[in-house]
Amino acid sequence: MAISAESVWGAAQEHLRARLDPDVYSLWMAPLSARGRNGDSLVLEVANEFSGTWLKDNYAGVLQEALTAASGQQLEICFHVSPQDSSPALAPAASGPPAAEPAKAPPGPTNADEHLVCDLKNKFETFVVGNNNSFAHAAAMAVAQAPGRAYNPLFVYGGVGLGKTHLLHAIAYHVATHKKAARVAYMSSEQFTNAYIEGIQTSQLGRFRKKCRQADLLLIDDIQFLAGKERIQEEFFHTFNALQEAGKQIVLTCDRPVSELPNLEQRLVSRFEGGLVADLQPPDGAVRLAILRKKAAGIGVEVPGEILEFLADRIRTNIRRLEGALNRVVSYGALIGRKPSLESVESLLREILHEEGRHAISIEVIQKKVAEHFDIRLADMSRRRRPENIVFPRQSAMFFSRQMTARTMNAIGEAFGGRDHGTVLHACKLVQDRMEVDPQVRDVVGHLEKLLGG
Ligand code: ADP
Ligand code: MG
Repeated sequence: MAISAESVWGAAQEHLRARLDPDVYSLWMAPLSARGRNGDSLVLEVANEFSGTWLKDNYAGVLQEALTAASGQQLEICFHVSPQDSSPALAPAASGPPAAEPAKAPPGPTNADEHLVCDLKNKFETFVVGNNNSFAHAAAMAVAQAPGRAYNPLFVYGGVGLGKTHLLHAIAYHVATHKKAARVAYMSSEQFTNAYIEGIQTSQLGRFRKKCRQADLLLIDDIQFLAGKERIQEEFFHTFNALQEAGKQIVLTCDRPVSELPNLEQRLVSRFEGGLVADLQPPDGAVRLAILRKKAAGIGVEVPGEILEFLADRIRTNIRRLEGALNRVVSYGALIGRKPSLESVESLLREILHEEGRHAISIEVIQKKVAEHFDIRLADMSRRRRPENIVFPRQSAMFFSRQMTARTMNAIGEAFGGRDHGTVLHACKLVQDRMEVDPQVRDVVGHLEKLLGG
């Protein structure tokens, strides 16, 4: 008969207590409880996704050994986010673990897939610093070292896969490990929203508010999802004020500058912009290569330089994609048992490269192709003059730059002769409006889109 999950975990905890630094044990291991068995897995309940991520990143090996020693079997570990606490993801009981024994696992089958935590290595040590991100990195470090005192709020923005979540986790991790008494609350703006709604539905709004407002460090990822949600913005506004007035640190990320978020209340805009704003730009070739080298070393495999260079050269816009490509190459290499050739890598990554190609167009190429199409000079795109015949070509080039590149409206405005983001926004809206009422404009825009490979 299988030994119960609780007793295996109880014995494993004894091993862990003996092996680990007492602080580490009390911060990370003591609050865990066994939820049950699921086939060959032991399901451990964690307070939130963030704790699970850290446990996996940092203590998977130790946990595994302790479990093997305790059970005499090779048990896999799954983390399950505690349902009572799946609202705002308050990071581990950083103010000290509960003295009481961990709660008994609820009986019955478990759904181990639910809330499964994926592997992440989001710490400062694994973050490669380059020109594209050095400012954001330095700001994040400053905040992690002196929360509530350096810059408040810190607002980090940048395109998909450029390291926003990585930096956010790095700050949280640094604070949680260096300031054990600090209460760290990390959540995405969607989780904030869901927790708020759940709070209303279950008449537990007070509990939700207390959790958010008692944090010493509140990190909210992807605040673009607050756009257009008035009630949530209202709630967030009050949370923000309460924390800021109490001198608590707030860190926010967003996929674009705050000025470009549609439907965000002005009072939030001014608060978000009131601290330090730092952006993450796409990495250049050298940084991409450095990231790949670091990741490859992290996995512990040797990937031929020419393959790393090939990846760094071909995948430019998104570090997550770069990583995905590397993982694919590494798994393939493991599968065939030798180093893959460059040709096989190219065919292996066909979809990823295709996807990348779709986003690789630059503002300059758009300007050039649109100018050619309308038979105007390229220089007219960035000239101050506004003769009638170049107004529409210029507006549509701005429109496509907005649609097809990851550049901000400020950067686009800059490329069009130092115009501001309001001009770009206006141009995009005009093109959109004209397309709606004028079939001819719709045709031209459709034709251009094809031309640009959209
Ligand atoms: P975002 O939240 O901006 O969409 P993430 O933070 O999730 O992006 O980053 C995507 C992936 O790229 C993650 O695996 C992250 O660890 C990695 N990454 C991003 N920037 C860096 C960097 N400068 N150094 C190392 N890895 C990075
Ligand atoms: Mg992210």
